[in-house]
Amino acid sequence: MKTICAAAMLSLLLLTGCTSAQDSGVHSRELFAMDTYMSLKAYGAHAEEALGEAAAKINDLEGQLSVTDTGSEIYAANHAGGSAVPISAETAAILQEARRTAAESGNALQISVYPLVRTWGFTTGEYRVPADSELAALCTHVGDARISFDSSTLTVPADMEIDLGALAKGFAGDAAAEIMRRHGVTSAIINLGGNVQAVGTKPDGSKWTVGVRDPFNENQLCGTVHVADKAVVTSGNYERCFTAEDGTKYWHIIDPASGRPADSGLCSVTVIGGSGLRCDALSTALFVEGTERAAAHWRACSDFEMVLVTAEMIYVTEGIAGDFSVGSTLPFEVLRR
Ligand code: AMP
Ligand code: MG
Repeated sequence: MKTICAAAMLSLLLLTGCTSAQDSGVHSRELFAMDTYMSLKAYGAHAEEALGEAAAKINDLEGQLSVTDTGSEIYAANHAGGSAVPISAETAAILQEARRTAAESGNALQISVYPLVRTWGFTTGEYRVPADSELAALCTHVGDARISFDSSTLTVPADMEIDLGALAKGFAGDAAAEIMRRHGVTSAIINLGGNVQAVGTKPDGSKWTVGVRDPFNENQLCGTVHVADKAVVTSGNYERCFTAEDGTKYWHIIDPASGRPADSGLCSVTVIGGSGLRCDALSTALFVEGTERAAAHWRACSDFEMVLVTAEMIYVTEGIAGDFSVGSTLPFEVLRR
């Protein structure tokens, strides 16, 4: 019998700590979209309209980006037999970010890894360990080079399929945060199943506190980061995973080079930056890259910080170290440029 790991509904715990009378202007929405539980909280006079619009936008984006919804742009591209299909500017922007991250990460992020994700059962919950020969055959259909797109059309070759699951929630978080700001909301916290987007500060002007989950204990944090106006996005090996009969654990982030769950030694990667889309693409890519390549990747860029968690160690980059509080007995080291 295979055992399914606990779903990471609350992979990041939000410690908003708002209980005083002055915070009574909190408005909230809970929804299930993009295969995860989402919770949005906003403060102030315009919070209610902003939350309604943000929830509607997230649902619209799911309809547009889902790999399984037969009405989505991605489904159309995957089932067009290699013909071009029309796409929105938003989908084009996500594809562009995926391509950029693939190039930056030595192809650690590959949206065409979808047939592998499916064959392991991560899309259906019918988990299995495929044979090496099956994985090797599927790996020959992975790669960015033959996928083409511009601002309004996308062509996926007939022998390939793509999935934007590694980036879609990050894009949705940016869209929701943008709606908050447009409505004049200066204090909101948006948690899209591990993709957290902080708008402004807490109502009292202090930074939001976002917990980084302990990969080994869903009820514990291994630290917290304190942020204002930032995305905090985590990819972890506990989010969607199963344990095979021989006791080996397998998870949903696939190394495109092997076709197997990325076994880089990292248990989770949290990326902190201004863009949810960028942070989401990076969290998946850096997870595949592993500690050393991830550190080199971070040193080559200046627009994100990260927290890497392995079984033995927590690594925190210097730009966020002052806003990171350790909550675990694991030793921690600051990565410097
Ligand atoms: P995230 O939770 O953002 O790290 O995204 C993980 C999801 O992205 C998985 O559930 C897959 O659908 C997809 N995925 C897995 N591995 C990769 C990869 N190497 N490149 C792109 N997408 C991936
Ligand atoms: Mg991601």
